[in-house]
Amino acid sequence: MRQPLIAGNWKMHKTAAEGQALAQAIRQGLQTDQVEVVLCPPFTALSAVHAVLHGSSIRLGAQNMHWEDAGAFTGEISPVMLKEWCRYVILGHSERRQHFHEDDEMIRRKVAAALRHGLTPILCVGETLSQREAGETGAVVAAQTRRALEGLTPEQAMGVVIAYEPVWAIGTGRAATGADAEEVIRRWIRGTLAEQFGVEVAQRVRVLYGGSVTPENIAEFVCRPSIDGALVGGASLRAESFLGIIHETARAKA
Ligand code: PEP
Repeated sequence: MRQPLIAGNWKMHKTAAEGQALAQAIRQGLQTDQVEVVLCPPFTALSAVHAVLHGSSIRLGAQNMHWEDAGAFTGEISPVMLKEWCRYVILGHSERRQHFHEDDEMIRRKVAAALRHGLTPILCVGETLSQREAGETGAVVAAQTRRALEGLTPEQAMGVVIAYEPVWAIGTGRAATGADAEEVIRRWIRGTLAEQFGVEVAQRVRVLYGGSVTPENIAEFVCRPSIDGALVGGASLRAESFLGIIHETARAKA
């Protein structure tokens, strides 16, 4: 059994004080222990949100990290620093790939570094609109998955969470259909994992959908057998909508 997981990516939103208030509201409103919940605030709010979550089952995640432990990398944050606060780290988000030119090799190094330090990567993969229109979705998603996990042992690969996030669905209000997301995840993500690491890893890894998820559409995704939850951007910035997504997931998976 794979435990459902809902992770909130706050992106570049929320000061420490605002993050503290949002985390407090989510902690107070959470009514299920069937869904693992992860909050990923900006680095500057990690400490404040960590204090709010102390003693609860809600986990903390970061949105990015460097692959080196330390060094002359101005502006970067290392896995050694993150593991003081976080259990999870989002890696390879399409906004990092697009705006900061992260490539598959950088993401592979980050995934390996996170695992080396006991952090769980939430590895994001997904095609752009032009890739989709060119019929390249499967090839793109399979290649991103395979390259990011290259060199891992099956045991390490089992510890990764993958988020399928079609780029055209992120922040656009235009979510994929549940059937489409299920097909990509089953065939191109779990299929790639099976080829690379074997069937057991393919069955054990948790895979999320991300892209314009709301309390109204989440059930459409999490009712599918290959989809274990969601990576949520916009709707994670308000307690009411984020809690709605968590509680709908608990209902759908019950
Ligand atoms: C994201 O940032 O990972 C995301 C899925 O954003 P949104 O839910 O706003 O589409």
